[in-house]
Amino acid sequence: MKLTFWGASRQVTGSMYLLETSDDYRILIDCGLDMERKDINPEDYIGLFPFEPSMINAVVLTHAHLDHTGFLPNLLREGFEGKIYCTHATLELTKLILEDSASLNQHKLKKLQKKKKYMDSEKRETRAKELYMQKQVDATLDMCVCVNFSQRIRISDDVHLTFIPAGHLLGAAHLFMEVEENGKKKRIGFSGDVGRHDSPLLNDPEEMPEVDYLLCESTYGNRYHQTKGSPEDEVLEVIKSTCVDVPGRLIVPAFSIGRTQAMLYTLHKLQKQGLLPPLRIFSDSPLALRSNMIYQKFNKWLNPEAQEFMKKHGTLFDFENLVQVETDKQSKAISNFGEPCIIVSSSGMIQGGRIEHHVRSNIQNAYATILMIGFSAEGTFGYELMHGKTTVEINKKEVDIRARIAHIDVFSGHADLTGLMRFVKTQKTEKLKKLFIVHGEYNNMLAFQQHLKDEGYPQAEIPHRGQCFEL
Ligand SMILES: [Zn+2]
Repeated sequence: MKLTFWGASRQVTGSMYLLETSDDYRILIDCGLDMERKDINPEDYIGLFPFEPSMINAVVLTHAHLDHTGFLPNLLREGFEGKIYCTHATLELTKLILEDSASLNQHKLKKLQKKKKYMDSEKRETRAKELYMQKQVDATLDMCVCVNFSQRIRISDDVHLTFIPAGHLLGAAHLFMEVEENGKKKRIGFSGDVGRHDSPLLNDPEEMPEVDYLLCESTYGNRYHQTKGSPEDEVLEVIKSTCVDVPGRLIVPAFSIGRTQAMLYTLHKLQKQGLLPPLRIFSDSPLALRSNMIYQKFNKWLNPEAQEFMKKHGTLFDFENLVQVETDKQSKAISNFGEPCIIVSSSGMIQGGRIEHHVRSNIQNAYATILMIGFSAEGTFGYELMHGKTTVEINKKEVDIRARIAHIDVFSGHADLTGLMRFVKTQKTEKLKKLFIVHGEYNNMLAFQQHLKDEGYPQAEIPHRGQCFEL
């Protein structure tokens, strides 16, 4: 059996691993959008993929995030005809994410056509080819097969698959695969994204059974979350210093799927406890609104506290003073709202989405706080803000950043070093043949690898893109 690393290798995004069994059954694990595009060798590629999509028999998804699912419709376009296995909630969230991408792609395509004059035609053509539309999204969704958590299913004569709850996002799973080869059973574990313990809404990640080979993400492989109190305590402190002590605005960049729900739920809890000041709260993302409904629909997969809250109040995310912003026009009109307020909008890395205009119109306001609550990849504006950027270009003029930039870890969807070690340490080192570090910035991976070695896992290695291992 062979495993090839085609994405999230020495970088965070673009998760994609190809598992080929000795009887030529080919399984692609995740098919994510590569937002970083590092180390791509064009010679590896036939069309948009470094392998022939029609030769893939099945795809298995760990969870719905764009960097794990965002390239799927292109796989179909280039000839894939197999099944896509995922959990029920992953299917519904993937539907939202891919439909949103398809509508953004329409705008991107128009923009590309305008660039005809200045862009190299080959490059433009490749870019245009990546931009799938709703039709391909529908066809992708039709190929999905939903599987329950913890249900062991056979996906080919020799391969069994089990989805194990991973926390991180509604529907997110670790994958446990058992492959029979020449009468011998080999077990492979894919971490997907590992969630954290005690997060608002979600259950703790569950343990991976004993495996021979383990792939482990490393987004926070080199840091410990700094959490001072409960999500409610930490959020309330920022609200007080921004909107009560001074008449300011709190701007929260948050992904529409996952982080926004955690934030709204926390605000709702504060409101029910009578602790939330009477401020207007704008949730400015139609995608988040649809995602809220899916979280409520699948509330049996949320943690017991959230289920209890839902039973008692009939809703997780709706409360007094919360305004769900629908149109672009309504979104822009928030600038004219004169009172202190809270704006939760996407994207979380301040790269695209309505958050961009909220940040732009408040970044010179010394009374505003921009509260970062999630991960920002290198190269995004969110990353720069979190790393001390002091000026920004607005309307071709460099201006000072006067808003306060705050950062809390309590909403992070990823396990930190403690959580990742907890995940790995359920494996006995003498049984584990290889431990592959994936899905992280390269420097963090190196630090994580060193940490693993110090903790008794000398088999940890960091595959590069295109590297193939015989298992
Ligand atoms: Zn994720």
